[in-house]
Amino acid sequence: MIKYKLFCKNCDFKFDSWFASSNEYERLKKKKLLNCHKCNSFRVEKTIMAPQLINNKSKGDEKINLQKYNKVKKTIIDYQKFIKDNFKYVGDNFAYEARSIHYNSKKKSKGIYGNASKDDLKELKEEGIDAQMIPWIDENEN
Ligand SMILES: [Zn+2]
Repeated sequence: MIKYKLFCKNCDFKFDSWFASSNEYERLKKKKLLNCHKCNSFRVEKTIMAPQLINNKSKGDEKINLQKYNKVKKTIIDYQKFIKDNFKYVGDNFAYEARSIHYNSKKKSKGIYGNASKDDLKELKEEGIDAQMIPWIDENEN
């Protein structure tokens, strides 16, 4: 099941809807079975999924989050050191390298790390390739 935030181009009404899959959403839309819950218009579109982090938070929450962040920051930095020592950095080629390890059994599978988009990770997961997203602190950051 997948939840989409939908909005109506006609009246700007926003609502959540569940679909069996993204294909199911496309199918219903094509068949004109998707309509606005408020004005019944068929001009319904899905909105881009916003990461939970961008929720509007009060200032108080931000402060608590900052304290939490500073607490875990050291752990993350230790973790990063471990990864840097034990894994091969592949930069933006992460998705490519992950596939090449997965599909080429002869290749020694040393762990790799690098940059990948959420879409890349989703695709890799669908192909049965295990990839984890971890928090990463830029060294230039204070
Ligand atoms: Zn509407």
